[in-house]
Amino acid sequence: MSEGEDKEQEIRRRLLVLFKNHGEMVDAYVAQFGIDINMKNMHEIRTQFPGIGDTASAPVTEAIDPLQPMNLIFQFNEKALTIPQANSKGDSPLFPRTVDCPVCKKWGVSSQDLRAKSLTIANDPFLAPVYKTTGRFQEINYLLYCMTVCSGCFLASPDRKDFDVYNASTRQNQFSQLPPAVIRQLKDTIDQRKAFFERTGVGDALFNLPRNYAGAIVSYQLADVRAEIEADSKVLGAYYKRGNYWTRIALLCRQAGMDDHQALQNAAEHFKTAFTISDFPKAELEFQTLYILFNIYLYFGNQKEAMSYMNVLGKSVQELEQNGDPRNEALLHAKKWMNQTRNRWDDREYPDFWKTPGL
Ligand SMILES: [Zn+2]
Repeated sequence: MSEGEDKEQEIRRRLLVLFKNHGEMVDAYVAQFGIDINMKNMHEIRTQFPGIGDTASAPVTEAIDPLQPMNLIFQFNEKALTIPQANSKGDSPLFPRTVDCPVCKKWGVSSQDLRAKSLTIANDPFLAPVYKTTGRFQEINYLLYCMTVCSGCFLASPDRKDFDVYNASTRQNQFSQLPPAVIRQLKDTIDQRKAFFERTGVGDALFNLPRNYAGAIVSYQLADVRAEIEADSKVLGAYYKRGNYWTRIALLCRQAGMDDHQALQNAAEHFKTAFTISDFPKAELEFQTLYILFNIYLYFGNQKEAMSYMNVLGKSVQELEQNGDPRNEALLHAKKWMNQTRNRWDDREYPDFWKTPGL
């Protein structure tokens, strides 16, 4: 079998999961779009088969697609617009740096690293991080700081390597890891990002640190805008990043006392796309992603859909076991996430089951 046929078979297998074993939908997809997987095409197929397959997804008849990152304008409550007070004393866990913007060439954009081992992390049910003090350092919500945002062009990323960084020890500039096509597209779309920023109404809260919850949510939305452009350019892991940005937006919504459903719905859509095209920077992240999808659908009260992701995990474990080597890395990861998923399923009636640490 050629590599191309191999790939098509794998993608068909994954589409079958997403279309709930409706082979006719998979056939229609491949006939119309080949194996170029994206959400627009998946929605298109769902409209052609109304009432079957994945009906839990965002309604396709909606005039405004909330998955387009700049379409979703949150209504912020008062808490979201207030800067949370740090609740302990101690040294700052932040390590400030400056970077330069590869898109608009602005110099001295401020960026905040977290000092190693200064805070510990407790995950929420969707693996978004809640930061806790270890005693010596001040406890802060790093989600309010972690995004580096350029005020010239609204490029946003939690990864400093997306910007140009001067390396003091080598005395050399390390240029942005973003591919030239992505940088070009980011240049062409500055006006759209600026218009989006104005519509959100967060103003300076996007740039003053700590951000309020509203500013932090918009900072993540802008990162999603960047990752969407990366996805268009087929940068590996772009959909996986998008899913993770939205679980963090969901956490920020909860911390601000706002509804988190739309954010988790967006996370689920991106994680499903990542799963379908195996868009993971490391192969084992696929199993973790299935665990997150399981939790999102359980949270939505859709046990059937949640179970389908648990079943995919179970099948992965079986297949890897058949391959023999019990110390196989992928098998260890698959087993770990299968066990965690099973534990979540067994515990689902517990009163604190959906509790977010710290809330
Ligand atoms: Zn810029």
